[in-house]
Amino acid sequence: MSDAVIAHLADQRDAILGRLNALLRIPSVSTEPSYAHHMDAARTMLLARLTEIGLDDVQLLDGGSGQPAVYGSWTGAPGKPTLIVYGHYDVQPADPLELWHSPPFEPTIRDGRIYARGASDVKGSTTIAIETVAAFLAVTGGCPINVKLFLEGEEEVGSPTARKIIDKFRHLLTADAMLSADGGKASLAVPTVGIGGRGCTGVEITLRTGTKDGHSGRYGGAARNALREISALIASLHDDQGRILVADFGADATPISNAARAAAAAIPMDEAEYLAQIGGTRWGDPNYTVRELTTLRPTIELNGLWGGYTGAGSKTVLPAEAHAKITMRLSPGMSPDKAMAALHAHLRAHTPKGVTLEMQQEMGGTAANSLPEDHPLLRIALGVLQTIHGKQAFPARAGGSIPITTIFKEMMGIDAMTFGLAMPDDDVHAPNESFRLSAFDEGLRSWPMLFSALGGMSKEEFNRR
Ligand SMILES: [Zn+2]
Repeated sequence: MSDAVIAHLADQRDAILGRLNALLRIPSVSTEPSYAHHMDAARTMLLARLTEIGLDDVQLLDGGSGQPAVYGSWTGAPGKPTLIVYGHYDVQPADPLELWHSPPFEPTIRDGRIYARGASDVKGSTTIAIETVAAFLAVTGGCPINVKLFLEGEEEVGSPTARKIIDKFRHLLTADAMLSADGGKASLAVPTVGIGGRGCTGVEITLRTGTKDGHSGRYGGAARNALREISALIASLHDDQGRILVADFGADATPISNAARAAAAAIPMDEAEYLAQIGGTRWGDPNYTVRELTTLRPTIELNGLWGGYTGAGSKTVLPAEAHAKITMRLSPGMSPDKAMAALHAHLRAHTPKGVTLEMQQEMGGTAANSLPEDHPLLRIALGVLQTIHGKQAFPARAGGSIPITTIFKEMMGIDAMTFGLAMPDDDVHAPNESFRLSAFDEGLRSWPMLFSALGGMSKEEFNRR
């Protein structure tokens, strides 16, 4: 069934590229309030397209604040699986502008890539998802599966309104699984399918060693210094090689399966080259590979540390107060609350008598999300990529966090797989973001093949595990 659809998409390639470029020309930067009218323009364009291709229930899902999501569905395949197809229409700011080789909101093709902000994150893959549905409807009059397109407008700012939107439009968002156009490939060398990301939570701590700063000549050497104490506290979190020393941190993590380690090992990674990209040196538990450390294992990372005098020249002060920002990436199974409690207990236990510690949670915790290893969506997607690439494809976990997938899992019980087409070297969030035309062409084949293969299963089979 997908052959005619793939042929149609190939035939329409220029028109589809034109629609992608039109979307890329809209600077839909969600974090910047003065760009609100551009966010509106992106929604208007998408609403029009979803209506034009023949979707039902096309509408904005407005959570009452923030950026509404764009929605449209096609549910004419009774007995077949229903998938939320996820994409997002917002992008990161283009700054620093002077580092772009062509204007960020004027898509430009060079060396087989489209350069524009949002090209790979994630208007490219989102466009492919929409066009796949459009092509099935145009060519065969229906889709092999039921589809609910959910195009978010706040992915780049951490999905702050997603819970409100899902709660309010729950009746529209029931599904058997989520297929995300976000979340790209893990490797240039082997094809990968995204099966989850790590969780994340963060805290700011304040340490006080006194009621006011002291003179370093009068009190130094005889009274505690807040900066020294916070440094010792932070240093107590890891050993010299980077093993985390916080008791009970990760005690609730799902044990890493042999299959997960094998999948991590199957995706090639040159550790020296990886570290050279940031001029960094190896750190972390030597019993794990870099890929394992960055996808399967949790972290505790110091993100900021300040206090005392940091201006020009010197000041002989004994600081009474010091601050640090800490975030944690959580591996599957870890509860953000328990991770926070373990950190809290460790910091308390290591704070000397007479020194006060305050902790203020800086971000709402998100747990890791994981597509089960035996999920039919994964099996079918791996098969599709193997057919296209002529070599084995592998499931891959991301080191970052994908809040929307965790939110859908928590609120709707829906598992997610990411089938995006961005490559690790596409410079997402950075100047000169690009999207390979080869990835664009791959998507115009892989997405319809995936839809067709999923349509070969009944809803019952899909959910039987
Ligand atoms: Zn992004």
